[in-house]
Amino acid sequence: MHRHRSSLGDLLHHIHVSGALSRAALAERMGVNRSTILAWTAELAGAGLVREEHPAGTTGAGRPSLVVVPESSRVWVLAFDVAVDRLVAARVGLGGRVLERREAARPRAGVDLDMVVRKLAELGRELVDPGSLCVGVGASYCGMIRPGDGMVRYGPEMGWVDQAFGAELSRALGIGLPVAVGNEAHLGAMAEYQRGAGVGVPDLIYLHGDVGVGGGILVGGKLLGGESGYGCEVGHMLVNPVDGRSCLCGSRGCLEAETGEYALLDAAGHDPGEFGRDAVRAVVREAADGDRVAAAAVAEIGDWLGIGVANLINLFNPGAVIFGGTLREVYAAVAPQVADRIAHHAMPVSRERAKLRVSALADDATLIGAADLGFAALLADPLEAASTRTTADLTVG
Ligand SMILES: [Zn+2]
Repeated sequence: MHRHRSSLGDLLHHIHVSGALSRAALAERMGVNRSTILAWTAELAGAGLVREEHPAGTTGAGRPSLVVVPESSRVWVLAFDVAVDRLVAARVGLGGRVLERREAARPRAGVDLDMVVRKLAELGRELVDPGSLCVGVGASYCGMIRPGDGMVRYGPEMGWVDQAFGAELSRALGIGLPVAVGNEAHLGAMAEYQRGAGVGVPDLIYLHGDVGVGGGILVGGKLLGGESGYGCEVGHMLVNPVDGRSCLCGSRGCLEAETGEYALLDAAGHDPGEFGRDAVRAVVREAADGDRVAAAAVAEIGDWLGIGVANLINLFNPGAVIFGGTLREVYAAVAPQVADRIAHHAMPVSRERAKLRVSALADDATLIGAADLGFAALLADPLEAASTRTTADLTVG
């Protein structure tokens, strides 16, 4: 059995990240002949995972090559995103297409595990489609996650320490599937590499701004997890040891303390009661509109961001640095400061190939990364995963 397990998984992975592909394109990518692709496609189609169709726009003339397309509306995962000011649930189809989504605003203070799990489970259960195949559940969380069991070891922004988030969400959902949990910036990095601004760049750094700054560093297309999976905390890289702002982690002058939401809003003289993505974006807009205080605040943040990025370029020699979350808008406003710091502090041979880009997946980067966690079992062993999941498992009650 499963003679072609890894090959079937590889083929499905190509379709999942690239969308419809012809047999000829698949044969070329996988280095096998077209009749092999035909046989493998037949197995995947028999399991209801892909279908073949005529490419869009072809007419009846000649014999256009069929393309293999993912069964996006039939095969899906539940994806969750616990972000700083919102909770998101989505049904994401094979191929990475968001089929349906629900969002709830999240209060900044006083959010305990029960509240977050209860709300996410409620949103998720609304999305379950009993006539189709749910193959996994993935969640993105803004904190440090223990690999394997979805335990939040440390979530500074909510004050969570050792909270069994993955297990509790799985129990509350009640659809018989575990919940795979990842750090938001780690997931954003993988998502941008698979289908966003980092396609074709296996050595990249993704920086995710929310209340703080998260990081995901890919080396040869693999996440740099460190000894225990808690690596890439670039937000806590020390950039201002002399008179730095205090950081949620207990230190001072960390990159996120100098460039995060609080630093920007404070420098711009905004009311301490204002926070969130909209408040950050408002300051960036005010700066663009010529407000001098906002422009100075944005420039100050850009300067610290540039120092951080220059350090990262020296350390990792990345092919790209991608700015996501609120850093997407912030970077667009501070590109000159960042370029200046890189020119002064990053070594020429380290920086010469580093492209600076904004996230292509925008606010969905972390959600799409979470969905890919949910698809992992299917892509590892498509026939096994498709046969063990049945619609009967999804009777919500
Ligand atoms: Zn810190």
